[in-house]
Amino acid sequence: MSDHSEALKSLPSIDRLLAAPQAQALLVSYGHDATVATLRVACAEVRQAILAGDQARAPNVDRLLAAATARLEVQYAASMKPVFNLTGTVLHTNLGRALLPAVALEAMVEAAAAPTNLEYDLKSARRGDRDSHVEDWLCRLTGAEAATIVNNNAAAVLLILNTFARRREVVVSRGELVEIGGSFRIPDVMSRAGAKLVEVGTTNRTHPEDFATAISERTAFIMKVHTSNYVVEGFTAEVAAAELARISHEQGVPLVIDLGSGTLIDLTQYGLPPEPTVAQTIRDGADIVCFSADKLLGGPQAGIIVGKRELIMKIKKNPMKRALRLDKITIAALAAVLRLYGDPKSLPQALPTLRLLTRERTEIRATVERLLASVAAAVGPDYEVCCAEVLSQIGSGSQPVERLPSAAIRIAPKANKGVAKRLQKLSSAFRGLARPVIGRIVDDALVFDCRCLESTDDFAAQLSSLDLS
Ligand SMILES: *Cc1c(COP(=O)(O)O)cnc(C)c1O
Repeated sequence: MSDHSEALKSLPSIDRLLAAPQAQALLVSYGHDATVATLRVACAEVRQAILAGDQARAPNVDRLLAAATARLEVQYAASMKPVFNLTGTVLHTNLGRALLPAVALEAMVEAAAAPTNLEYDLKSARRGDRDSHVEDWLCRLTGAEAATIVNNNAAAVLLILNTFARRREVVVSRGELVEIGGSFRIPDVMSRAGAKLVEVGTTNRTHPEDFATAISERTAFIMKVHTSNYVVEGFTAEVAAAELARISHEQGVPLVIDLGSGTLIDLTQYGLPPEPTVAQTIRDGADIVCFSADKLLGGPQAGIIVGKRELIMKIKKNPMKRALRLDKITIAALAAVLRLYGDPKSLPQALPTLRLLTRERTEIRATVERLLASVAAAVGPDYEVCCAEVLSQIGSGSQPVERLPSAAIRIAPKANKGVAKRLQKLSSAFRGLARPVIGRIVDDALVFDCRCLESTDDFAAQLSSLDLS
């Protein structure tokens, strides 16, 4: 007992800790209140350890301040931070999808730091429309009459359904009742939006007559969903957009198409697999088309809705639009990205998403080879490190089958026992770096697809702190 009281008495007071020279740095970085609160927590912890008999003596001032510093560093560290996406999936939803070009970053900073004419018409000094900053560009690039923008494509689908199909029916093919991940399922969104789903056809085959017979006076529209994250193969039939447009217009109902990863230009000109463009879909006769801005388009997170003016006006007037609207920073970024589409020739250089998707295997292999020796040195002699040919994917549901030839750093444990455990430890060590490295475990090896690794210096510089202990 008396041991405890001696030890407790030797615990420095908060004032004494604050007076120490090392405390000044903490006060400057975190301010008085946070520093004092953390010192109190650090002292309380020691007090408890002493009373529990886990600790015989109080630590000195240095040790207590070091403990408080460590605590504050963890508490103040940014939770979201840049990582290296070496998963081989370029548009990785969990890693934030498209990377923005420099012009978009500049526009975002400018918009964030100053008041802007976001919803203010400079000519009339009246209230303006925040869509106006991108609408002309969207119409030019898609051939649509009008456009509006919301938070993401899920919001776009929700808003379209809620505007036109509340307490009415929406006709969809059974082959297109998709789940996009993160619990976004077309049937669930329909019911949340107050629409009644009318399924037609079967999982693998839907025919024009299926739609024609399902339309009634309760039908709000026909909806086609681009089956972006899977393919139905074999004995299949789907009704093409142009045919669907003919059927819906004959029956006097609009055709709505959720393109998912709609692209603004023909990607085959860059050697990428074909994806339906928004312009083609509009030419096919769709009355409303919605798509994501941060998938193949390569912009910030947003949902874009384009189509017939009369219908887009109704969407803009839905009070729910207010809850789903975009902020000025995102609008600034989107406008900057859309302007890049004015020059499709320079797009593969100017737009990071396209630049990454069009990188040749030879170039990626050169990146891999530059790094092999330093990776081998960092992981030590227990691992075999080599260059492997792999296939990247576009991601975010675009072209689930097509793969892009790429190259990777492959790290395999030499031992043939406890391989799974070693790989877990290895990948966890890479994730623990200052800028976490995210790869994939494939066939008893940790694989880093280097398609998305453009700055090898930053990657190599932190390898020396890899902790495999
Ligand atoms: C990705 C996708 C969505 C959801 O888009 P977000 O921008 O992620 O909200 C909706 N529909 C389809 C077909 C998609 O591919």
